[in-house]
Amino acid sequence: MSETRTVADFLDGFPRAELMTAETPVEHLARLSEALDIDLWIKRDDLSGLGLGGNKTRQLEFYFGEALANKADTVLITGAVQSNFVRSTAAAAALFGMKAILQLEERAPGMGDAYYRSGNVLLAQLLGAEHMSYPVGEDEAGADNALHERAAGLRTEGRTPYVIHLGLGHPPLGALGYMACAEELTRQMNDFDVAVVPSGSGATHAGFLSGLRLAGHSADVFGICVRRNRDSQFLRMQTVLEKLADLLGLKETVPDRDIITWDGALAPGYGRLGESTRTALVMMAQKEGIFLDPVYTAKTFAGLLGLLKEGRIRPGQKVVMIHTGGVPALFGYQEELGVA
Ligand SMILES: *Cc1c(COP(=O)(O)O)cnc(C)c1O
Repeated sequence: MSETRTVADFLDGFPRAELMTAETPVEHLARLSEALDIDLWIKRDDLSGLGLGGNKTRQLEFYFGEALANKADTVLITGAVQSNFVRSTAAAAALFGMKAILQLEERAPGMGDAYYRSGNVLLAQLLGAEHMSYPVGEDEAGADNALHERAAGLRTEGRTPYVIHLGLGHPPLGALGYMACAEELTRQMNDFDVAVVPSGSGATHAGFLSGLRLAGHSADVFGICVRRNRDSQFLRMQTVLEKLADLLGLKETVPDRDIITWDGALAPGYGRLGESTRTALVMMAQKEGIFLDPVYTAKTFAGLLGLLKEGRIRPGQKVVMIHTGGVPALFGYQEELGVA
């Protein structure tokens, strides 16, 4: 991409609600660097503020920017039972004096009691959000439609709803927040070789990758699959990147060779802990005193370890992992994580 405009120039064109009160720190992980023979850093987006933080704070700046511009009084969103996005949305709604309606999908069947009561579920209740449930976990279009029906009902009552979409049919506004993250990171530390990010809806991965390239940075960006296998996630990323380029008015998208998806830590599936995920979560806690979450960031670190083992991340490289948050979900996984 040959582009003279900066990331900030691009973002200037979008309404934005201020939710990021400060830059997030970049920290060196000395003990893990030594143990793994790489130069390992972590971008602490888990400390992004707003209702216990995480990557959705950056994404919501653009959704709430649009919601406020539309004079919305109610925000609707769908997600997994332990979704961080719905919890962060409820926090932003509280901040702006709006009502939040959260639709919780059954995406990880067979979980213990804490999954339905603690962690993000508890926090969203404390934030005063209203819950509705959706029985299926892998039906993006159906889940969106259910929200639209609810929004239509609200309109007839004279309210002004705003729906936050995760599905592929809508502009990936959240990705703009991760363009900002990439730009922020290159100002804090520019000489890294590799970045590792979780790849779920793809907003974080696509925004980060695009932002990095627009900032003129050529580091490899590995997207660690947390929900779909690497081939379906690759296709999804192509679409999200195309939609992001459309949103930005760019003629060229990020080339396919730059889209890397890795799914070696995905099993047994979304929101479920495999052995390598558990090991990664415990290793980060016990070597660095940093908590990862069971759904996204422990898989991301497990991915980093897997890529090292495969030789795709090489000894001596300077590597930065984006910690996208999610730590409140730990409390929803008490039965799965706890020592009996
Ligand atoms: C939502 C979420 C992700 C995935 O981000 P996408 O932009 O949907 O790909 C990663 N980590 C955490 C903690 C999340 O809550």
